[in-house]
Amino acid sequence: MYFQKFSDKLPDSVDVVIIGGGAIGIFSALFINRTGLKVAVLEKGYIACEQSSRNWGWIRTQGRDIDEIPIVQESIQLWEKINKELDGKIGFKKHGTMYLASNKKTLEKRRKWLEIAKDFNIKSEEITRTKLAEMFNTSKTKLYKDWIGAIYTASDAKAEPQLAIPKIAELAQKEGVIIIENCAVRTLEIIAGKLDAVNTELGVIKTSQAVLAAGAWSSLFLARHGISIPQLSVCASVLQTGPLSNIWQGNSADEKLSFRRRDDKGYTLALPDFIEVMIGIKTLKYMPLWQSAAKNSWQNIKFRRIMPTNYPDSLSIKKDWDKDDISPFEKTRILDPKPSSVAIKKIQDRFAKRFFVKEKIKVVKTWAGMIDAMPDVVPIVDYAPNIEGLIIATGMSGHGFGASPGFGKIISQLTSQQEPSHDIKRFRFKRFTDNSKLKVGPGI
Ligand SMILES: Cc1cc2nc3c(=O)[nH]c(=O)nc-3n(C[C@H](O)[C@H](O)[C@H](O)COP(=O)(O)OP(=O)(O)OC[C@H]3O[C@@H](n4cnc5c(N)ncnc54)[C@H](O)[C@@H]3O)c2cc1C
Repeated sequence: MYFQKFSDKLPDSVDVVIIGGGAIGIFSALFINRTGLKVAVLEKGYIACEQSSRNWGWIRTQGRDIDEIPIVQESIQLWEKINKELDGKIGFKKHGTMYLASNKKTLEKRRKWLEIAKDFNIKSEEITRTKLAEMFNTSKTKLYKDWIGAIYTASDAKAEPQLAIPKIAELAQKEGVIIIENCAVRTLEIIAGKLDAVNTELGVIKTSQAVLAAGAWSSLFLARHGISIPQLSVCASVLQTGPLSNIWQGNSADEKLSFRRRDDKGYTLALPDFIEVMIGIKTLKYMPLWQSAAKNSWQNIKFRRIMPTNYPDSLSIKKDWDKDDISPFEKTRILDPKPSSVAIKKIQDRFAKRFFVKEKIKVVKTWAGMIDAMPDVVPIVDYAPNIEGLIIATGMSGHGFGASPGFGKIISQLTSQQEPSHDIKRFRFKRFTDNSKLKVGPGI
């Protein structure tokens, strides 16, 4: 059971409303507030109840899209700073990322990162099997026999998703950000093309600026206001173990298993090659765009289930509602899909195969999250077309936890009408319709 932690009073007016209290919404609010504007975060469930508490906790530059790398580099510095402000309570640690290879083809593919890393002044290196055994606290004979080597980036980091965003929200609230949980934004009030107010289930807030950071719900929210984005939600399952001996402190993955040692000494385990698409209306509508574009993740995508009723893209979802109607955001306060039993079984088998762990592996929890993905696997961070005052920050495509401080900073610059400190052309709204060739990122 969850007890509401953030229950500030609904203000009559603010400078900026943030729709969605995930990583993007909370970091945006923190930095916007620091520019001197009055901000309110409205969250239909509770802070970080969807993707932002369900992710792997990786904060990585390695393997990221070229246009995201500078933003993640700044994000790592910002995470480090916030971690200090919060006395290290968010599990932020710089233990690096290790991408393992079980065959020459994968190793060759992973090596391509080394050239990119050089361009961005990131120290990455190839690790031999001998060195790997040393780093993984084992002998070469006991190291999983398939691993032939790895590519390692020491400057990458991790944080504990279940701790981090609520703690940062507390900091933001202390600094003056208004935060209200159990408060869905139903509709926007638009007068002569300009944002005038947001209508929430608790009442109206006058505002001339809003940031849509609604994760997997963004597309449905925008469609209600006549704006279409080719966003799909895909489902990924995760398993948390109880405490186990230390294999490796950083983020690590081979072709079929990812593992990260947690602050509580357990591991967060998942499958890099198993992403479930739930079939909904938009799955069918946007399939042609996805088929040609998401080629890097395609082999990992499984079509498994029909989108459950009252999920953002379900076949029966209401597409239009009035400000006084109960909206879809209240009908499903939290997207909490059932983890795939196939995936959970595979995680357990693959972990057991790789590590001869003497202790019995205790499964503490399993869960799943809906990832808001774009066909080119990078987000939209831009002013909305046709609605002056609305900023869209969505479609983080599986990268938004690590990059959230950097994107939050950019969003604070947009709400202050400043030039963003990074080039965000790649993340423009119009890229799907301006006849430019879609550049596809490295994957979810
Ligand atoms: C299994 C999994 C593993 C991942 N691993 C990583 C990783 O290791 N590293 C990484 O960088 N990223 C990872 N990601 C992706 C990352 O978690 C997301 O990109 C990031 O959390 C997105 O943050 P967000 O704030 O945009 O969205 P969310 O966290 O989804 O937040 C959106 C919020 O908006 C609220 N909302 C929606 N509509 C409304 C409304 N109308 N009114 C009020 N509130 C509303 C929702 O309730 C929700 O809380 C992973 C994701 C998953 C699911």
